[in-house]
Amino acid sequence: MERNYKISNLSLYKLANGEFFVNDNQKGNWIIAKKEELPLIRKLAEGCGEKELICSKRDVAKIKLMCQSGLVTINDKKRFTYKNYIQTKKPFHLVLNLSNNCNMSCAYCYVNASPSRDKGIIIKNAEKIIREMLKGQKEITVVFHGGEPLLQFEKIKRIIYYAERIRRNKKINFRIQTNGTLLNEKIIEYLKEKGVSIGISCDITPAAHEKIRVFNKNASTYNHVIRAFENLTKKNVKFSVIMVLHKENKQCARDIFKFVRKYGIRRIAINPLFSGGRGDKNILGISNEEYFSFMKSYLRAQVQYNRDTPDKVYETETNFLIRNLLHLDYTYMCKSNPCGASFSTVAIDPSGDVYPCDEFCGEKKFRGGNIAQKSLEEIKKSGSFKRVRSIKKNKKCSSCVWYHYCTGGCPSKTYYNTGSFKNVSAYCGYYKKIIPYIVHLINAGKIDIQDLYDGGKNKDGY
Ligand code: SF4
Ligand code: SF4
Repeated sequence: MERNYKISNLSLYKLANGEFFVNDNQKGNWIIAKKEELPLIRKLAEGCGEKELICSKRDVAKIKLMCQSGLVTINDKKRFTYKNYIQTKKPFHLVLNLSNNCNMSCAYCYVNASPSRDKGIIIKNAEKIIREMLKGQKEITVVFHGGEPLLQFEKIKRIIYYAERIRRNKKINFRIQTNGTLLNEKIIEYLKEKGVSIGISCDITPAAHEKIRVFNKNASTYNHVIRAFENLTKKNVKFSVIMVLHKENKQCARDIFKFVRKYGIRRIAINPLFSGGRGDKNILGISNEEYFSFMKSYLRAQVQYNRDTPDKVYETETNFLIRNLLHLDYTYMCKSNPCGASFSTVAIDPSGDVYPCDEFCGEKKFRGGNIAQKSLEEIKKSGSFKRVRSIKKNKKCSSCVWYHYCTGGCPSKTYYNTGSFKNVSAYCGYYKKIIPYIVHLINAGKIDIQDLYDGGKNKDGY
């Protein structure tokens, strides 16, 4: 039987070096092509039998490459289709917001945390949701969050004690996201013993951190956070850092590596400030151009740093973006469409109200129900959970050449930044710059991909 070759849904994007990013924007498969290869590609887009394809040795090699990448299908066989991984999953990632109290008053806090907002989570509610999450799962992740979770350290110990008793042969990964100011040696010993992964929020440069991440009455927290870094290093505990990117620290891309080198930080998450709670993008936020410029400098510095060390460090968002680009993977809940909200993650607030994702916590219209009154299964069937599950991708995204790699961005951030799920992501302009930049880095062959991307070792962003 004669073979028929076809490229469906062809999209072309001209890269800065004059070559073309060629993809099938329904399935995401792609290659890089030179200008002189475009006639062949256009012919394949129309579909043609092998007898019609009179071509050079070079064209044969290119067609082979296009077949391997999945861009060209032979006899309409579908390859590399969207795995739809997320929708088949029960939630396995739980964010436990222990309280909205915090010993700090950061200018951009998205949960409006303050010293005494509530009495903290009722232990029975935390136990119930962990018990229900474990049903039908071999492994779950529980993240202690807040407010400042270490203000509830005794509750953390009780919850871990309970979870360890009921887990039987199942695995529970514990994580904590803290401002670091209460992280003394005793607490570090306990977290180390229990295998709790630690993430610390820090805005890197002293000037930026001291201006925004402050105790009440504007007292400085910087030295407290540095002491936590030192205590963790002394105890040989690896940790990750979350940095909010804003006007005050947008110049610090290279400074990050002074910390990485000194304290052996294993992962960085760089999150541009978004509107929510006290965070107002209009006051401290940065433009997509500034975000891109920062990330370009950051990635150059990361590649340079990683080149010289076996203890490589990666940035969460770009790492998963590259994973989608290279493998069309979609297994990370925030780089998938629909995203993992309510499919693979849920969050509970201190009152016991359950939300489809931590990013929706506190916004009553997304509340699925209270765990004291309903089972997790019932909450998952609630209207608000269904609403989040059925968020459609924006029309602009459907025809966009980059859709399979950015997956349209986080819907919650789109909601908070732009007022509606229907709008295109506020970071669209950034994605349209950073993805071709990453493609260029990979294509230029001047970097070792291991210095840019962890090769899929990290599955859940921590
Ligand atoms: S709402 Fe945003 S943060 Fe939450 S799972 Fe979806 S993409 Fe991730
Ligand atoms: S967010 Fe922007 S870059 Fe991403 S798919 Fe949508 S239109 Fe394209």
